[in-house]
Amino acid sequence: APDLLTVGEALVSLRSAGPLAAGGPLTMHLAGAESNVAVAVARLGHRAAWVGRLGADEFGEYALRQLRAEGVAVDGVTRDPDRPTGLMFLERRTADLTRVQYHRAGSAGSALDVDDLRAPLAVGARTLHLSGITPALSDTARAATRWAAEAAVAAGVPVCLDVNHRGRLWSRDTAREVLTPLAGYASIVVASADELDLVGDPGADESTVVADLLRRGVDTVLVKLGGDGARAHTREGVERVGALSVTAVDAVGAGDAFTAGYLSGWFDGLDLAGRLRRAATLGAFAVSSPGDWEGLPRRAELSLLDGHEAGDVL
Ligand code: ATP
Repeated sequence: APDLLTVGEALVSLRSAGPLAAGGPLTMHLAGAESNVAVAVARLGHRAAWVGRLGADEFGEYALRQLRAEGVAVDGVTRDPDRPTGLMFLERRTADLTRVQYHRAGSAGSALDVDDLRAPLAVGARTLHLSGITPALSDTARAATRWAAEAAVAAGVPVCLDVNHRGRLWSRDTAREVLTPLAGYASIVVASADELDLVGDPGADESTVVADLLRRGVDTVLVKLGGDGARAHTREGVERVGALSVTAVDAVGAGDAFTAGYLSGWFDGLDLAGRLRRAATLGAFAVSSPGDWEGLPRRAELSLLDGHEAGDVL
């Protein structure tokens, strides 16, 4: 069984170096929050598997090829002959402004179904990683996400849930109705500060949401604070980590890298401070290199940012 099993939609991202309306050029990349986490964990030498649906098209072939190249197990992947692999366009409109356009409605990934997950869940894993994106994709994907969380908990596999709110897929209120019960299955809940009330009462502050989650059985709540680092809440209290001082060139993927770093530290048996340090290190690699995951470190490279002092902690 793998260390990490992730479920979600992998997309092909077409990145333009300039305005799309002026015509490319485009480069092709693998994208998707959960597959980003799988790649990051695999680079560090852990066994990672990604499960989801891809179209029986060239884009699906490409996504599989990239995942395989990164050492992510893809034997549980379903190919859908009737639906295309989801696409996204990442347009560098100006030096400071990047726009995203999704072509994922009706995609193979959004047609994820409980039956796609039965075999991989039967194999098991040391941990199951889910994101709040998958249940936003369709009714069947929502049911599949919920089923996976239940099946993992029933098998004693800890669940990590990244809230990962996508405002283009659903409203905050709908997200909250689905994600709050889902968080009850999780051992680790990851959220940005502005996403926390999507797993708690509307407008509730951090301490209230965290207290509720810990009471409901969540062990660790990780609150990501961008360039200010992160906070980890457990029943023992709060542990903080500062962000490493690096030059940020591409923020996309920082959250996924952070989560992967945390999980990697957990697989390695590090204490909470060590897990947070690795999480911040991966987040720093992600923001200081272009691409969602291309610049993430292999294990021997983890120390490359050692000289970059952590900033102040909040
Ligand atoms: P995204 O959705 O873009 O992937 P996110 O909002 O989920 O990002 P962030 O809080 O932006 O996640 O970043 C996750 C972690 O990455 C932070 O906790 C921090 O450790 C690291 N990080 C983010 N921005 C920076 C930065 N400018 N410099 C150094 N580290 C950063």
